[in-house]
Amino acid sequence: MKFDYICSECSKVYDIQPDLMVCPVCAETQIEDQPLAGVLEVRLTGEADSSFDVFDLLPVEKEFFPPSPVGNTPLWEPENLRKRTGFSNLYIKDDGSNPTNSFKDRASYLVSAFAKKNGIDNIVLASTGNAGSSMAGIGAAAGQEITIFLPETAPPAKIIQALQYGAKVYKVAGNYDLAYDFSMEYSKRAGGMNRNTAYNPMTIEGKKTVSLEVFQQLSKAPDYVFVSTGDGCILGGIYKGFEDLKRLGIISKIPVIYSVQAEGSDALYRAFHSGKFTNIPTATVADSICVDVPRNGAHALKKLKDNGGRIIKVSDEQIIEAQSDLSSSTGLFTEPAGSTAWAGFKKAADEIEKDAVVVIMATGNGLKDTASALKGIHMPEKSISSVDNIL
Ligand SMILES: *Cc1c(COP(=O)(O)O)cnc(C)c1O
Repeated sequence: MKFDYICSECSKVYDIQPDLMVCPVCAETQIEDQPLAGVLEVRLTGEADSSFDVFDLLPVEKEFFPPSPVGNTPLWEPENLRKRTGFSNLYIKDDGSNPTNSFKDRASYLVSAFAKKNGIDNIVLASTGNAGSSMAGIGAAAGQEITIFLPETAPPAKIIQALQYGAKVYKVAGNYDLAYDFSMEYSKRAGGMNRNTAYNPMTIEGKKTVSLEVFQQLSKAPDYVFVSTGDGCILGGIYKGFEDLKRLGIISKIPVIYSVQAEGSDALYRAFHSGKFTNIPTATVADSICVDVPRNGAHALKKLKDNGGRIIKVSDEQIIEAQSDLSSSTGLFTEPAGSTAWAGFKKAADEIEKDAVVVIMATGNGLKDTASALKGIHMPEKSISSVDNIL
């Protein structure tokens, strides 16, 4: 297999190099407060059949990956939900079971290997919480030094996780967008590989592995995939995986992908309908998808449009309700951004044929943000001093 970069905007082709992050030509057109211009995609050329090994479809050789069991996450068959909804081919991809408990490990894993291959041992990034704790954990396995910029409001568990893994953590006096700006400036001045989502092409490429796995687990592509969206990097990655399989002749059609956003942070949704991205302050209980300017917005929007994808939004109440619904019906406890996809499915189910193969992406573990999860349950108020109190 041969790999190079192709610009998602101008189609110019480049050799893969560690210091090339976005297309230098399109980057000249970058406007402040707009999604990244000139996002580079990895292009693969070669042949493979349906018995492919995921590593053979990645642009870094297996020997450079850290010893961390990323991916190969379980595909649940939620019997109760199948019965209740009538969707007999409903699946949930449990990416909260990755080593640091979120989907982000797929990107961190490939970035870590890419840095290792190029002799780079420090990695810098901005994060709402999960990308940071992920890179910290995967970096710990690889022996790399990780520097993270996070919003001060990031859920404590995600910050604690990153610190446990030994990362250098800076809380910024502002939101994720400010953290992003600081991390860019820091890596320009202090060096190291930047792992910012979408900016480092290996983030999208790493995230494609979920589609390859889903194909392997089902022995075919699903009909529909539901995924929550903030920066749009997971969305771009899911498309990239299925597109690679199509290019290789392994599947014949790309699934219909539903991108699900929070009503309070819906930049991609707005751009899908208006054609342009506007930077307005956003807020949602689902911190992992709380993004004012989606960094991979332009790339993700193009993929949605080109492939007939759909985009919907759900309220915070629906997200919290979906979280406890998923927990109590399946035993899978996801963080709010993880249950957002389930909330989206509940909203859109009427549009879908009952026998369709549907995959819900559960992107992160519920224990990462217990404060939000508390909103969907009732904590017992009083302690009991005897069983007599309750019988
Ligand atoms: C990052 C993240 C998302 C959204 O991914 P984007 O690439 O930002 O769209 C969804 N769920 C969880 C748990 C995440 O950590």
